Amino acid sequence: MAGLPGWSEAADSTFRILSHDLKVTIVPSSHRLMVMDRMVLQPSHEGQKRIALTLNKKLVVAWISQNGKLLPFHPREAPAEAPDPAKGPSGPDPRLAHEIVIDFDQAPKAGQTLVLDFDYAGELNDPPREPRHLRFVTPSETSGHIGPEGVYIGPETAWYPDLPHSLATYRASVSTPSKWETAGQGKLVSREATAEATITTWETVAPSEGLTLSAGQYLISTRRCDEIDIATYFYPEEAGLAETYLTSACTYLRSYAKLLGAYPFPRFSIVENFFPSGLGMPSYTLLGAGSIRRRYIQPYALGHEIVHSWIGNYVYNNDNGNWVEGLTTYLANYYWYELEGDPKKARDERRMMLLAYAVYVPEARDYPIARFKQKADQQDSAIGYSKAAMVFHMLRREIGDAQFFGALKQLVAQYGGRRAGWQELELLFSKAASRDLRSFFSRWIEQPGALALPASSDPDYHLFRRIPRGDLPAMLNLFVTDPQRLVVLPGGDSSTLEPYRQIAARLSQEDSVKVRSIQDLEGQSLQNSSILLLGGPAVGASFEWVRQALPSGTDLRLDGFRVDAKEYQGEGMALLLSVRNPDNPSHIVTLFYGLTPDAVKPVAPLLFYYGWNTYVVFDSGKVVARGDEEPRKP
Ligand SMILES: [Zn+2]
Repeated sequence: MAGLPGWSEAADSTFRILSHDLKVTIVPSSHRLMVMDRMVLQPSHEGQKRIALTLNKKLVVAWISQNGKLLPFHPREAPAEAPDPAKGPSGPDPRLAHEIVIDFDQAPKAGQTLVLDFDYAGELNDPPREPRHLRFVTPSETSGHIGPEGVYIGPETAWYPDLPHSLATYRASVSTPSKWETAGQGKLVSREATAEATITTWETVAPSEGLTLSAGQYLISTRRCDEIDIATYFYPEEAGLAETYLTSACTYLRSYAKLLGAYPFPRFSIVENFFPSGLGMPSYTLLGAGSIRRRYIQPYALGHEIVHSWIGNYVYNNDNGNWVEGLTTYLANYYWYELEGDPKKARDERRMMLLAYAVYVPEARDYPIARFKQKADQQDSAIGYSKAAMVFHMLRREIGDAQFFGALKQLVAQYGGRRAGWQELELLFSKAASRDLRSFFSRWIEQPGALALPASSDPDYHLFRRIPRGDLPAMLNLFVTDPQRLVVLPGGDSSTLEPYRQIAARLSQEDSVKVRSIQDLEGQSLQNSSILLLGGPAVGASFEWVRQALPSGTDLRLDGFRVDAKEYQGEGMALLLSVRNPDNPSHIVTLFYGLTPDAVKPVAPLLFYYGWNTYVVFDSGKVVARGDEEPRKP
């Protein structure tokens, strides 16, 4: 394992952790964790008498020994590194974790194997908070939590002693109260349930970037899928959905095994989390209850997590960049539709990837894919996920299917349990294509930007090009990403106003959003911003102003509306419709209103999930029609 690609870049490569053998006791009612860890590590060269391992500050170490002999140790603050989200996680947060410094009797020899035992315990009580973003799905914010509602502890919790950039194997024997179940990584070695406790032992089958454990009062369902055991760990409320998930998981696992080589783990588990999340770990995925209830089995959802089993949780990114998300997005969110033989959906996905870039990446803020480490916002996502996926699409068309997919199989076979970077990918694809791909990778990975081509030369969206903002269909996302934004509230009684006020309140937390009610608008020019008109015809003069810009076949009234030549009436109906600003087409006007307050209420909290369509019609909160304005002719 010496000389792994990427290994030489590790911050402190004096020591390397080979394995952990953890005996873990979890007491949810008191947030308590007790651990005995037997760690095997290896110095890479001689002369270091000291090692510093990171550990959560809440965990108190009772003793550390080597071959039964106690070693002196002391904690010290971890070096304070300025947090840089663009660089990605380099280790646990120094506010959360410190270092345990251990002194050996004598300096270990290079290549010698050291066995250290740790005994430590403490409380991990950091209940998840609500995520902060407007319409960007992020896990709730916790560094890891043990409580009666559930257990989630992972590498960023620093719940076991670790070194930055570790790739180690893990065996964990976890004791929880009875009726609690623990989901872990790799192989389920054993599970023993008594009246007092459940003891579950998990063992990784390949070196892993970390160990995440989840525990809860789950009901487990299992199914055999060829050589793989699939399991769901759901709370009783969701247990009825187990069959749906097991069936979908098996379909995805079979298809992607054909594409990428045998599934690298003996088991795949779908585990319900006690807070919103969509996380993928080697051999399992952790989804919030809301996601599970909404049947999160789509290619961009469960499919994406399953592709991560090969790409991201078996072959890892190195420190030089993140190619994992782009490739996973390409294979799951997009390529699934090609596999299914659905060219129309495949074309829609390509179009959406170009739209994401056009909407979220203004030219002045663009950066090369090589600089993407992890997503902090929609712009990162448009570059590291959407653009990178389109670049893989172009690469595939450039070198041919057999060469492209041959290189992917080779990537998994050669780098399983290890790290790879863009350079290693370039090498693999060049080899498969029997030609030098330097200029392709230099243009598309190392430089920002996109092709500037007229839509007519690429009607099926096979090329990564920038669609000018002015040519995009009118949509709420053009309002959302406009630096000049104005929200207009209607008049009326408080029950009518309340759901609209909620939308305005969420937006007003963002910079540069002005909120006005119609009374304050008198005489104000509306041409210099994008505008969200809440209340539709109820906003009076402003509505009369925008009425002139409505497409033909559209008529909006307080008691009904006509969109795309179709009439809608009834108490539950609501409409989201975007048009170009009649006085200045570089801005957008979006109207949102319901025929009754009850029609508005269920849509209001989810409004910003419907940002991509020109119009969306809702009946009691459910989408009953949607459509897009034809792309504008340049
Ligand atoms: Zn992903």
